[in-house]
Amino acid sequence: MGEDIIFQDLTEDNLSRFNAYDDHETVRRVELPNGLIGFIAVHNTNLGPGLGGLRMRPYADEDEAIRDVLRLARGMTYKNAVASLPLGGGKAVIIGNHRTQKNPDVMEAMGRAVESLEGSYVTAEDSGSGEEDMVAISLFTEHVTGLPPMRGEDVNYGELGGNPSPVTALGCYHGIKSAIEHRYKGERSLSDMHVAVQGVGAVGIALCELLKQNGVKLTVTDISQEGLAHAKEVLGDVTIVSPDEIYAVDADIFAPCAMGAVLNDDTISQLKVDIIAGAANNQLMDAHHDQMLSDRDILYVPDYVINSGGVICVGYEYFRKSGYNPMDFTFTREAMLSHVEGIGKTVSDILDLAAEKGVNTGEAADKIAEKRFLEGASLSTDANGEDQTNPDSEPDRIMVQ
Ligand code: NAD
Repeated sequence: MGEDIIFQDLTEDNLSRFNAYDDHETVRRVELPNGLIGFIAVHNTNLGPGLGGLRMRPYADEDEAIRDVLRLARGMTYKNAVASLPLGGGKAVIIGNHRTQKNPDVMEAMGRAVESLEGSYVTAEDSGSGEEDMVAISLFTEHVTGLPPMRGEDVNYGELGGNPSPVTALGCYHGIKSAIEHRYKGERSLSDMHVAVQGVGAVGIALCELLKQNGVKLTVTDISQEGLAHAKEVLGDVTIVSPDEIYAVDADIFAPCAMGAVLNDDTISQLKVDIIAGAANNQLMDAHHDQMLSDRDILYVPDYVINSGGVICVGYEYFRKSGYNPMDFTFTREAMLSHVEGIGKTVSDILDLAAEKGVNTGEAADKIAEKRFLEGASLSTDANGEDQTNPDSEPDRIMVQ
């Protein structure tokens, strides 16, 4: 195909009827080969380029795709801000079946569309797109991350590339430890815990391994018999329950690691745990389910905070490759993992803030994110939004905690 792509930027008039519209900076509708349509949304770039994955799914129509891309791009602004990354929020979607309608021409056009945004959007994999698609896109734009490690050898970032799932699991592990500390005030420790894990896929199994190594009792479920067989092989002594039974397991912690909307009217009434802390995105079916959990005295660790290890992983890869480094990060795997360990501190700050202000944990997380990306607060502000940076340091420099 040729070099030109056909696109149109949607205006406020086009977008204001969507609830998920939040003054997004750019929403670009892109015409792709074979009649496919894609959208790229950049929500906010106050902290840096909007990074978020490329999702391909058979949306019912363009409105459904726009709604999703607006919501997801906004979510990435919050996630990246809370993860102390110098990144804003963006997302891309393609309307189509990723198994039958994806091909190199489509990825070339997406690559050119990403390039047309001149670095305000950085793409990565998401559901319906994978590492090989990012490689295809990388032929047409630099603004892509989540590439296989060997692709980076020539630019020496190999140790930062690759599958982010184990890093996401590591972030969850640190978040879980902080939630235990907050909930039990030192009276119980990780090794006393019984954790019910929903989904033993890429993140779930890696999380189970970390927990198991630390003496945690595990109950797991999955809809995939293959996944369960693998879990049994890797974990040895583990209790397996059916997918419907996982919500009512008499455990201390429920770790959703499969899919969204699992915390709803039906499931919350079944829960017997003290803490919810897992990797799945969009765990609350509705905003009011956060309140429902708090009414039942269940401590909910906001999903986008505890699962930010993956974006930290691909973020470091992008910084290293692009040379964009406003926070003077060190580009070693060790430094990236230490940033991921910081998720533990962030979780503590959020839980403390929620307790102190008497608000739900999701609200506390949003407040911290908004303080950072709306009011330009330093990325090292504490949970109350007080700036912890040294007043003598350079004024524009953003610091990591
Ligand atoms: P995955 O596809 O590898 O694993 C998901 C697992 O859940 C699969 O084994 C699947 O069979 C199982 N599952 C699906 N429906 C189920 C059900 N009803 N009951 C029980 N199990 C079910 O995905 P993943 O990469 O491990 O991601 C898991 C979740 O974490 C997703 O919500 C994803 O969006 C989120 N997440 C992942 C990352 C990452 O780095 N991979 C980062 C952030 C968030």
